[in-house]
Amino acid sequence: MNPLRADHISPLDMFKIGVGPSSSHTVGPMVAALAFRKEAVRALEEAGQGRPPDLVLQVELYGSLSLTGKGHQTDGAVCAGLSGLCPRDSEVAAIWRAMDDLRQNPYLDLSPSLRVKFHPDQDLHWLNWTMDDGPIPHPNTLRFRLLSQDRVIFQEVILSVGGGFIEPVDKETGERKPAGESTEFFKLPYPYNSAEEFIEQVKKSGLPPWQIVIANENERGLNESDLRCKLEQILNVFDACIERGLTTDGILPGGLNVKRRARSLYQQITSGKPSTWSSPMGLKPSVYAIAVNEENAAGGRVVTAPTNGSSGLIPAVFRTLQECQNLSRETLQNGLIVASVIGALVKTHASISGAEVGCQGEVGTSCAMAAAGATAMLGGSAEQIEQAAEIGIEHHLGMTCDPIKGLVQVPCIERNAMGAVKALNAAELSLASDGQHLISLDRALLVMKQTGLDMNQKYKETATGGLALG
Ligand code: SF4
Repeated sequence: MNPLRADHISPLDMFKIGVGPSSSHTVGPMVAALAFRKEAVRALEEAGQGRPPDLVLQVELYGSLSLTGKGHQTDGAVCAGLSGLCPRDSEVAAIWRAMDDLRQNPYLDLSPSLRVKFHPDQDLHWLNWTMDDGPIPHPNTLRFRLLSQDRVIFQEVILSVGGGFIEPVDKETGERKPAGESTEFFKLPYPYNSAEEFIEQVKKSGLPPWQIVIANENERGLNESDLRCKLEQILNVFDACIERGLTTDGILPGGLNVKRRARSLYQQITSGKPSTWSSPMGLKPSVYAIAVNEENAAGGRVVTAPTNGSSGLIPAVFRTLQECQNLSRETLQNGLIVASVIGALVKTHASISGAEVGCQGEVGTSCAMAAAGATAMLGGSAEQIEQAAEIGIEHHLGMTCDPIKGLVQVPCIERNAMGAVKALNAAELSLASDGQHLISLDRALLVMKQTGLDMNQKYKETATGGLALG
């Protein structure tokens, strides 16, 4: 059973500032490498046997990480994490330089007295679906091993479970331990672990939906003004990413020769030239989504929303609504909070990992989050918010993950544009109705999870089926 509750996942867990191109294959492995680095130092210090001789670090990448890790730059991300760099605060250029630096000088100083050898081309291994003759615990599994004279002296298995979240596996029990989110017990003023319970809390309290989360965060020690300040930073990264995407040309890295097109599309829609046909919002949401996802594909600074593959959809919807409806920054922050509730419910009851459930877990989740956030920002009730999220999920059920060459480019970039348009439509549909509908969000999430379990592995971020076959 998932030990996590939806009300224990903060909006700041769902929206993490980091680097592209993938949250599960880039950010997660980088965070895992950074965590291992700290853990290895602590373990050796605790053992107190001084510095063992001839230390070598080996990293094993399994399953989907192995199959699509090259396209997702997992190797570069692991090198950056092992070098002590972090996705949020380190310079993007420094992150992507780390692997070459290690090729030049294959030694890591884990602490002032702990130097280990690690060469990316010799000590990083791309492996299969089994570990020590047993199945791996998750499609995105990493094992870090510290060896002294060919003997393993410390090792850790860490899972990258989507959206930049990691879960170390307990050495004794084999159980997964959610990391980075609070599993501490708090008596929250407004507990909820389902959409139904969330609606109930909103109705009973008479508070706006976002205030439920703000009150819970406050109980955990994060006051409203600090929370809003951090949400504002996230909105600023959205904006900066859109701007960079709209002003950058060129070919995306990875060898697929995908031409960046956000800039020229934006020039077309702002040139004043009449187009053949245009919907009321025109191509704006699509172009904004493409701008962010091109930045993501180029390894730039993005925010998990809830993943990197789906990082363009929410910024596109929020920016479009901000421009069309003149929304305040506070309203946008409220929208982010409500969107995060939906992301947390999906993470808890289904999955936000393409390797686990396909793209329904990434672009599908993002669409549901954006639709819910948009509905909240436009004054919808809790029922309408839930309906909008359900529409967003329902019409992505079964969507596969089949990125060509394992790169987060085709179909990912355009898929965010399509998802943004669907999210706006879902919000509009729910706002025009009374929130009554047949399938609840809670039920749709169960269906999503089962659909993901039933989905053939070749359609779950392995680049061995679907569009990936060319
Ligand atoms: S197809 Fe979807 S799930 Fe797969 S990498 Fe692309 S955005 Fe992520």
